Amino acid sequence: MPTLDFHPTGRHFLQVPGPSPVPERILRAVAQPTIDHRGPEFGQLGLAILDGMRRIFRTRHPVAIYPASGTGAWEAALCNTLSPGDRVLMYETGHFASLWRSMADRLGLDTEVLAHPGPDALLPDAPHWRRGAQPDMIEDRLRRDTEGRIRAVCVVHNETSTGVASDVASVRAAIDAARHPALLMVDTISGLACMDYRHDDWGVDVSVGGSQKGLMLPPGLSFNALSPRALEASRRSRLPKSYWAWEPILRMNQDGYWPYTPSTNLLYGLAESLDGLLGQGLENVFARHRRWAAGVRAAVRAWGLPILCAEPEAFSPVLTGVLMPGGVDADALRRLVHARFDLSLGTGLGRLQGRMFRMGHLGDTNDLTLLAMIAGVEMGMKLSGIALAGSGMQAAMDHFASEPAGAGQDGAAQLAAGRFSPSRA
Ligand code: PLP
Repeated sequence: MPTLDFHPTGRHFLQVPGPSPVPERILRAVAQPTIDHRGPEFGQLGLAILDGMRRIFRTRHPVAIYPASGTGAWEAALCNTLSPGDRVLMYETGHFASLWRSMADRLGLDTEVLAHPGPDALLPDAPHWRRGAQPDMIEDRLRRDTEGRIRAVCVVHNETSTGVASDVASVRAAIDAARHPALLMVDTISGLACMDYRHDDWGVDVSVGGSQKGLMLPPGLSFNALSPRALEASRRSRLPKSYWAWEPILRMNQDGYWPYTPSTNLLYGLAESLDGLLGQGLENVFARHRRWAAGVRAAVRAWGLPILCAEPEAFSPVLTGVLMPGGVDADALRRLVHARFDLSLGTGLGRLQGRMFRMGHLGDTNDLTLLAMIAGVEMGMKLSGIALAGSGMQAAMDHFASEPAGAGQDGAAQLAAGRFSPSRA
């Protein structure tokens, strides 16, 4: 048996943009004894969690929970609502948007990609990977779809491969302005519970979420939040589905159960996460991610390196992508900081492989763990011979010292406050 005892002394710095560091309180909850998923206690747990997840998505409508990674919930969104050959407009903001598109192709959908045309001096081969979804392009395309062939518009809320966020409310406004009946599907796998998200107010038909980012759970749960129109579409949809089908899940969820064995112990963790996040208040959770992100960006600017995201209004509060100077291998830097400082950074994905790295500022983190990450990167860059304009570490310290966290925002330690209890809700 290979040993799992591979960690050096001290704490590993898991600063990839998900899976995020899991608070001990959640780890302890996951370690509770497994109970009968058909027994009376389980139904109560299930109902409380489903109620809490509706609050996280800000919806009054059903949320389906899958024992699957986010990719499963992507598939569930498509196969529950669409039929073979349906045209889907997929806005490409990065690697995850393009993976979702490839899945749609494999499922037999007729995909059409929209992407910002650029130009871009820093990333001439991928200007669209530096910018959020452009509502005017979506509106223009939908206006030209006079036969109503486009059945759905798919957008990634927070592109985890780049650190670029998209304005979902504006995408909905664009669809409405074109008076187009397409469904709006949004991947908020890394946005959910880190940044503002409003399934109902923004008129989203299917929202896709995952456990291992803002919810601070281990990987293994994913979500579909639904709208009445999505449910209506599911009754007509002809793509094959069985495991992912919403209908049997929602029917059994009415009493807090699932048609198959749910991930009992991850659901314990989810109850604990909801307790903490909703107890703190989502506005406080979002504010602390914004504050952390500003501190990390201050460091990158002080180093004199470009932030991958080109639009300040699209800066992600969840992660920051950093472009390397030409000729510098970002993966060599990542390997070095991992070997020397036990720090994991996100790799460049797809066409950005080796050209950038990603720093996560989500999960069970705080000012000092972020400073440790920045120190590790700064030391790694110096050891790699990368010329820096100044000290990112100093800039981030100045930021965190001069911008005190607001009440209720002082880090994930707030989880310990846990004023929300799903069972009391
Ligand atoms: N979409 C986004 C935005 C993601 O960040 C990820 C994973 O990081 C996925 C989809 C795929 O999710 P998973 O790896 O959980 O299947």
